[in-house]
Amino acid sequence: MRNVTRRKFLASSVLAALYGVSGAGAAQRPGQQATPWRNWSGSVVANPAGRFSPSSEHQLADFLASTHGQLRPVGAGHSFTPLVPTEGHLLVLDQLTGLLSYDSSANTACFAAGTRLSDMGAPLARIGQAAINLPDIDRQTLAGATSTATHGTGIDFKCLSGYVTELRLITPSGEVHDLTNSSEPGMFDAARVGLGALGIVTRITMQNTARYRLKQTTWVDKTSDLLKDFDRQASTHRHFELFPLVHSEYSMALATDETDEPINNPPQSPEEEAGFDLIMQGWMKVPPGVRGPLVNALAEQIEPSERVDESYKILTNVRNTRFNEMEYSVPLHNGAACLQEILETIKEQKIDVVFPLEYRYVSRDDTMLSMSSGDEDHAAISVHRVAPEDYRPYFDVIEPIFWKYGGRPHWGKIHHLGALQLSQLYPRFEEFRSIRQQLDPQGRMLNAHLRKIFGVDG
Ligand SMILES: Cc1cc2nc3c(=O)[nH]c(=O)nc-3n(C[C@H](O)[C@H](O)[C@H](O)COP(=O)(O)OP(=O)(O)OC[C@H]3O[C@@H](n4cnc5c(N)ncnc54)[C@H](O)[C@@H]3O)c2cc1C
Repeated sequence: MRNVTRRKFLASSVLAALYGVSGAGAAQRPGQQATPWRNWSGSVVANPAGRFSPSSEHQLADFLASTHGQLRPVGAGHSFTPLVPTEGHLLVLDQLTGLLSYDSSANTACFAAGTRLSDMGAPLARIGQAAINLPDIDRQTLAGATSTATHGTGIDFKCLSGYVTELRLITPSGEVHDLTNSSEPGMFDAARVGLGALGIVTRITMQNTARYRLKQTTWVDKTSDLLKDFDRQASTHRHFELFPLVHSEYSMALATDETDEPINNPPQSPEEEAGFDLIMQGWMKVPPGVRGPLVNALAEQIEPSERVDESYKILTNVRNTRFNEMEYSVPLHNGAACLQEILETIKEQKIDVVFPLEYRYVSRDDTMLSMSSGDEDHAAISVHRVAPEDYRPYFDVIEPIFWKYGGRPHWGKIHHLGALQLSQLYPRFEEFRSIRQQLDPQGRMLNAHLRKIFGVDG
């Protein structure tokens, strides 16, 4: 337990009074207007009593130790599920950012947890390191991304949480835990994918690799052929993934490998950047029955393309079109069948959707709650719907298909599972629940969504 000095206690009390979190209800000051919070897609909105952005870990620990109200940590707000909303206070780590230390011989680096993934690539390159893998975009914070087991693609690559070697967790009572595989292994396995339910993560050390360059080749081919060949491609290339084009017979394939070739990655023109939005808008005007034949005809004319750059610039993309997403990870051997059933269902039910699916492989890991935790590698399959269109009718048809194939939902993407089903999908679910109860007996970090997930009355 941290020692709270009288001076610090007084300072914290002032903070508590200022931020109105000394009572369980986290009362707002009279006349104070709460600023609404919304996630990236605009589908999740909250009215927190206020926001607290600590300038140091000490300030955060003192704040937690001297207040009692409801709290939720927020990263970049890129989750589609209501993990963040609270009527209490949001904890924002936008002052706790940047590279803190590194070890060149072990290729590890410690970042403050509020650092955006987009602010890690260049500093890592300067010290000769690079992330082993990255997700599709890099706007997330490191703590936000690891807290939901954010992943990229690659049969040999774990989600980001699988590469955390050490993290600092400050519990709701202000206790500071420096967690590693050897110091407090149970808590470490839980906190690497903690959903912001165990406390506030303030620093994370990642296992990296030596800086490397990647070449990415993109082409379009028949989905059935690509799926037949997927395992061979996935084991041949460092990264391999598909974007199946709905209502058509085709998918876009992306194969990515290490290279020494010179950089060749011209910046996109504004027209190209706007291109995806325009294509989406254009396709939405085409009746669903006509889209398939049109895509099929166009697909055959698309030339393969290549680009080469630093790994972190190739692995991540800019996504300007706002959408909502559901993603489940199914055991690898079920991947192709699950994807095909989803594609057939969209076609048969003439679901009016234009957004491609995404099909990726993720390696197993030893965290408690990552979607690929345990003994099996997984295939991650995503469906998307452009925001602000109502995603529910579409996702409600697709979600039972994921369940049929033993899918585990991405914590940051839309799903409807509660504690009963989740406890059957995760062998260490009970262990996580008991660690959560131990670290946050008052349930300060819980909101309605987390109560449902962990089966806590409230
Ligand atoms: C356009 C887009 C593309 C995406 N691509 C991918 C992808 O390729 N692969 C993938 O797996 N996911 C992807 N995602 C999902 C995204 O990576 C996750 O939802 C991620 O958790 C978002 O990170 P964030 O920083 O925005 O965190 P938030 O969404 O703000 O928070 C996520 C969780 O982290 C917790 N949290 C945040 N900070 C802390 C902290 N300091 N301490 C403790 N808990 C904390 C929050 O309480 C919450 O539970 C994508 C999302 C979008 C919008």
